[in-house]
Amino acid sequence: MAHEDARRRMVETQLRARGLHDPKLLQAFLDVPRHAFVPSDRQVDAYADRPIPIGAGQTISQPYIVALMLQQLHLLGHERVLEIGTGSGYQTALLAHLALEVYSVERLPALAETAEQRLEQLGLLNVHLTVADGSLGWGEHAPYDGIIVGASVPRIPPSLLAQLGDRGRLVLPVGAAQEQTLTVAERQGSSIRTTPAAGCSFVPLIGEEGWPV
Ligand code: SAH
Repeated sequence: MAHEDARRRMVETQLRARGLHDPKLLQAFLDVPRHAFVPSDRQVDAYADRPIPIGAGQTISQPYIVALMLQQLHLLGHERVLEIGTGSGYQTALLAHLALEVYSVERLPALAETAEQRLEQLGLLNVHLTVADGSLGWGEHAPYDGIIVGASVPRIPPSLLAQLGDRGRLVLPVGAAQEQTLTVAERQGSSIRTTPAAGCSFVPLIGEEGWPV
């Protein structure tokens, strides 16, 4: 009950009050138990207005940033979506509520394993996980209606653009190591339109088309 109250407060004060109004998006944040995706010693912070360390030097993003990125995907519910950087699995769970099928790639096996257990416990059956270098996407299931990247890149990975379907939207932080611009790339046929959405700061996407190890 305490978690449910905290979750409702999070949606009102961190999301709705900051201009996010899409009812489906807000409902997903009410439905997914964020505390189930943070380490047990961080439970008290689960609904706080900030990112939280999840181990292996990685973080689960601030709820508002997750919401802002998800909003940019313009999901209606019938989409097949690719997520790069499963991390805790929190955003994966939200995507499972907002899209038809979710494909998620994580580089670190330990994080992928924990995320898989959590998503299974929640009974989310439309999620498919793999351990790989997500800077190269997941070609097997392409094209995707949406691609969302939870780690920063110096420039948009060509592989991700290649796996984006017509009218598909790619949302990712592009820029320097410390500060980036949340960027939306939209495909229309063979042309790509890129729009900046907000300033942000993400951990690096380490891989062939991301940052070097
Ligand atoms: N959105 C996640 C947090 C992502 S943190 C959540 O809700 O918890 C960024 C994640 O990207 C980390 O788990 C990191 O290991 C992963 N990552 C970094 N480089 C990667 C790559 N090349 N391919 C896939 N995942 C990568």
